[in-house]
Order: sequence, then C-alpha cells, then structure tokens
Amino acid sequence: MTGGGVTDTLVSVSNAGPTEQDPDGASPSSASVAGPTHRIDIRRLLDRITALAEIGPIAGGGSSRLALTDADRAARGLVTTWMGDLGLTVSIDGIGNVIGMWEIGEGAPVLVGSHIDTVATGGRYDGNLGVLAGLEVIEALQQSGATPNRPIGVGFFTNEEGARFAPDMMGSLVYVGGLAIEEALDTVGIDGARVADELERIGYSGPTPSPGPAPYAFVELHIEQGPVLEAAGLQIGAVTGVQGISWSEFTFTGRSSHAGTTPMELRNDPSIPASQLLLEARHLAHLIGGPQVATVGRFEPYPNLVNVIPRSVEMTLDVRNSDDEVLRHVEHVLFDYAETMAAQEGCSVERRSLARFEPVQFDERIVGLVEATATGLGLSVQQMPSGAGHDAQMFARICPTAMVFVPSVNGLSHNPAEFTESADLENGANVLINVVWTLATTGVELNGAVHE
Ligand SMILES: [Zn+2]
Repeated sequence: MTGGGVTDTLVSVSNAGPTEQDPDGASPSSASVAGPTHRIDIRRLLDRITALAEIGPIAGGGSSRLALTDADRAARGLVTTWMGDLGLTVSIDGIGNVIGMWEIGEGAPVLVGSHIDTVATGGRYDGNLGVLAGLEVIEALQQSGATPNRPIGVGFFTNEEGARFAPDMMGSLVYVGGLAIEEALDTVGIDGARVADELERIGYSGPTPSPGPAPYAFVELHIEQGPVLEAAGLQIGAVTGVQGISWSEFTFTGRSSHAGTTPMELRNDPSIPASQLLLEARHLAHLIGGPQVATVGRFEPYPNLVNVIPRSVEMTLDVRNSDDEVLRHVEHVLFDYAETMAAQEGCSVERRSLARFEPVQFDERIVGLVEATATGLGLSVQQMPSGAGHDAQMFARICPTAMVFVPSVNGLSHNPAEFTESADLENGANVLINVVWTLATTGVELNGAVHE
C-alpha cells in the first residue's frame, strides 16, 4: 500500500478533513505528515524487555512480580530511571501510578502505557511491552528530532493483574475516578498486606492527585494473550474493545443416595442438570458464534465419591461477548435453562453473580488509525475484540482510547513460556509510534471527544 493511500484513509477517519487547527490540511497530499514514517529501534526495546524480565526471574524465562512487592519496587525503580534518562517529568500519584511525561508542545498529552506487575508465574511481555514500547516511542521520536504538537506520556499503572489485591486494573480504575482512592488504599491482599502500607513501604505513595487529568488519547500496545492472530497468520490486531464478562456460580441441590440401590427413576441427581447446563453453554456459544465464549471452569460434586449420588454440585459459568445485548440474551437463556433442567430432575438451583462487566467499545477513529497505520507499514491487520481486561478499558471512560495487539506464540500468556517473535514486537511498536505521532500532531482530529 502506498503512502498516498494511507493518507487518504487517515483523512477519512479524521472525520473532519481540513480543519482550522490544520491549515495545511487543505488537500490529502499535504496531510502526508500523518503517514507511517517513524521507526522504533528493536534492539533497544529488546534490551529493556530483557533487563526488566531479570527482575523477579523465574525458570523458563518469565517473571514473578506481584504488585507492590520488593520485585515490583525494583522494576518500578528501573523503569523510572529510564524515564529520567529520557528527560521525562516523572509523577507518582497516591495509588502508585507512575507517568513519565515528555513536556513538549501544548494541550492534553497523548498517553501510552500498561503495567509492569505480573501474576506469580508471569511472562516477560504481558504489560511490560506496552510500557517499554512507550519509552522506545519517545526515545525514537526524540532521536529523530521530531517535535510533536502535544506532550507524550508513558505510564505504568498499579496492580493491573489483581493477583495479589482485588480488583484487577486497580491503578487505572483509580486514575479515571472509577474507584475511590481511600477504598483502593484500604484493600487487603491474599497475604494479608494492605495496599496503603505496601505503597509506603516500597516508596511509591506519591503526591500527584487522583483521579488524574484526561489525556487527549490513550493507546496501549499489548500481546494478544490468545491464539487468534497466530491462527489467522495476521501481524497486527486493531482492538475494537474489551468483551463484556459475566461470572456466575450455580449450586444444584438434589438428594444424596446409594449408587447401587437407588433405581434410576427414583433419583434426584444434581450432576444431571449441572452437566446439561455445561453442555448447553457450549452448544449456545457455538450457535451464536463470533466472539461468544462460554466456559465452565469449576465443577464440584459433593461428596465426590464413586458410589454416592451427589447431594449437590457447585459450578461456575463464565460467558463473554463484545455485544452486551447478546451477552444478556445468553445469560437469560442459560439461567432459565438451569432452572428448567433442575426442575426436571427434581432438584433445586441457586445462582450467585460473581462478576459482571459491560463490554467496552474503543474509539472508532483511533481503531481506524491503528488499522490504516498497520496497512501503511505493509502489515496484515484485522479488527478484533480483546478477551482479557486491560488498563486501556478504564481510560476509555475518560478519553478516546484504542489498543494494538501483536501475536502470542501458541496463544500462551500468564506463563513463563509466553513468547512473541521480535519481528512482531517491532511491528507492534512501529504501529504504536506512528499512531502516537499522528495523534500528537494533526493527523486525526478528536474534537468532540468524551472529555471535551
Ligand atoms: Zn496485561
């Protein structure tokens, strides 16, 4: 694809054409500043990924850095030092979110970033890539002598994984005002530690107020953590949003009795409706297709003995879709089905909701920009939803937001074997730098954005 084609696309996604802010944008050709002309240095990016992975190292090449532990402190120190090396102004807020700002141009900044905490058996790319690629974007732009019209910031947000403290995405949720800081600080983790005490202990309880100011735009580069891009042979995912999630726990209760002496017609076996629900969930997900997924991850009969008809079965149901209407339909059908099947077997059923998050839609203009930029770089790209939660979904509440995905080998993540080819890391970071550049100059006009 030629640069001219890309420019045309960018002008059309800008939804504005020439604007007062862009006096040179009188014709598509003069807006060629928006073309993907910048390149990151993959060597520098890989060196930083390696150096960060060596903090809290675990066998197999991954890292273990639960939020606000000593390992997290060391990782924060390293990344913050790198921010300082690039001349960025570093701010730390009360929940320990750290933002390095390249103070240049004027107006609200284009913000990129992700997280550097990991699960106990984490890989080296999840989260880290988005932060370190952000540093690389700024370093590459600085070295090229580029002068963006807006500041560019890179941040890492506290406790994205939620592996030690609930909820996950805590730092970004506090940043956008979705969780009161007092409540977040008072959270007690799985090891009995309190967020506020741990922040003090590691020296990351900062003075910058939260909620923080709305950026002009937020963009997060992340590994896919799933197999879709690899299976389709695609290089880049232009992420359209994050799937809605519904978690339920069902308890089917029947009558426990002897497996040998109880005739089949006299049983009230709760494992029957539970199994029917499990199969129906899978069947319905296939029937609906697209992004619909359904999973029964926990299935526990009691007393769980070979010669006893169970007294009860406890099971979980995880259903996700990027369309909330479809997700509600799936919930409705499956919840009804559970009751019908339980009644047929002479059992009762109770349902408890464990979590419910509505789907998040990213900004179509930035999603389009990600797609056009990838195409302009000669990369194969497809729009796709994210099946996992990310800091970007919180920022979508306060500013135009999107994400860039790169393939995960075998779809693995939250695993030391998590791997992304360096060519794919380079492609993703090259998409990021050009998207950021366009947003920080004049390529896409976001007037009328949520925060303005
Ligand atoms: Zn992540």
